[in-house]
Amino acid sequence: MEYDRVRDVDPEVADALEAEVERQRDTLEMIASENHVSEAVMEAQGSVLTNKYAEGYPGSRYYGGCEHVDTVEELAIERAKELWGAEHVNVQPHSGTQANMAVYFAMLDPGDKILSLDLTHGGHLSHGHHANFTGQLYEVEQYEVDPDTGYLDYEALRDHAEEFEPDIIVSGYSAYPREVEWETIQEAADAVDAYHLADMAHITGLVAAGEHPSPVGVADFVTGSTHKTIRAGRGGMVLCDEEYADDIDSAVIPGMQGGPLMHNIAGKAVGFREALEPEFEEYASQTVANAKALGESLQDHGFGLVSEGTDTHLVLVDLRESHEDVTGKDAEEALEDVGIVLNANTVPGETRSPFVTSGIRAGTPALTTRGFDEEDCRYVGDLIARVVNNIGDEDVMGEVAEEVQELCEANSIYE
Ligand SMILES: *Cc1c(COP(=O)(O)O)cnc(C)c1O
Repeated sequence: MEYDRVRDVDPEVADALEAEVERQRDTLEMIASENHVSEAVMEAQGSVLTNKYAEGYPGSRYYGGCEHVDTVEELAIERAKELWGAEHVNVQPHSGTQANMAVYFAMLDPGDKILSLDLTHGGHLSHGHHANFTGQLYEVEQYEVDPDTGYLDYEALRDHAEEFEPDIIVSGYSAYPREVEWETIQEAADAVDAYHLADMAHITGLVAAGEHPSPVGVADFVTGSTHKTIRAGRGGMVLCDEEYADDIDSAVIPGMQGGPLMHNIAGKAVGFREALEPEFEEYASQTVANAKALGESLQDHGFGLVSEGTDTHLVLVDLRESHEDVTGKDAEEALEDVGIVLNANTVPGETRSPFVTSGIRAGTPALTTRGFDEEDCRYVGDLIARVVNNIGDEDVMGEVAEEVQELCEANSIYE
């Protein structure tokens, strides 16, 4: 992949782009929220649609010349409806966080109450963190996972809701390896007359393929990022029943955004088209099988996993169980040195700061896109163990780095 036209104008940016292609090609991308989109999605995102103003919605825009962007947005909406079975979809939010913002702005007033999962237990900034607009505009209380099992404690959640009487309960997580019982949370919300926002950010692709139960038709609102397991390029979306369609649409524009990023909406349309192909179901089920294989391999090497395993695309390793003195940051840095890219992550009952942490989160969506199977992922587990067991040993690091290169070459991307 070369950027000759960029290079003619701007060699510095061209160098960075080409170096990034190489980095993605030559590293094992295991950040659970990341993926490699197809070149078709990138072509759509890099198109003339970046030039077009299209404030409004298909068929009702504030600008002329919108017939082709209307086609693109309608296709994105129709395909999303088919993928997730939603009555109404808004594909204009610039990201998952903006999708959540649209729901809050549509349904809450400043000062209203949000009940959400604690960030250190797998929640997201946009669910009420004090440094985020949600923590500043709303009154927030948080639920937790059971510290002993790592699973959501639904009973505690229901009790907390009864006591706090939130206006909205937020579910859907950034680092939760287990299946979420959307119905149970919806019942807890109904019992206190609260809305329920299910933020399926990470698992959009798994839900579309039937690998994880769907919150659509259960929760009042469902949001998602479009660049994670669904592999449709950077962006966000809101799914809801017809009943809330107008509220959500007007919260997005004029409420919080101006012109939609039509080039990204084209990326969404193309990525959704790809996800409607039967191969995508195989991709999603392989992604989950790969995460299970990775988790088992790590357990065989003595690592402790939060909740003892996974039902999804990610595993969360609690390093305290096997390596008292190795922090998440230490592990992240040592692994990056050999070409394995993942992130330090807080774990339930975290005792270190969020910048240091006691855990690492590892996902398989990007590896699966480049063709990894269970055997490859077990081998990646072996490599992670060799690195974490030998931090600072240059010989071991050199050997593992070579093996990482071989794995990358055997499963190449972006030729
Ligand atoms: C990734 C994520 C989001 C959205 O992130 P963006 O970067 O804004 O797309 C929202 N909620 C959860 C739970 C996430 O994991």
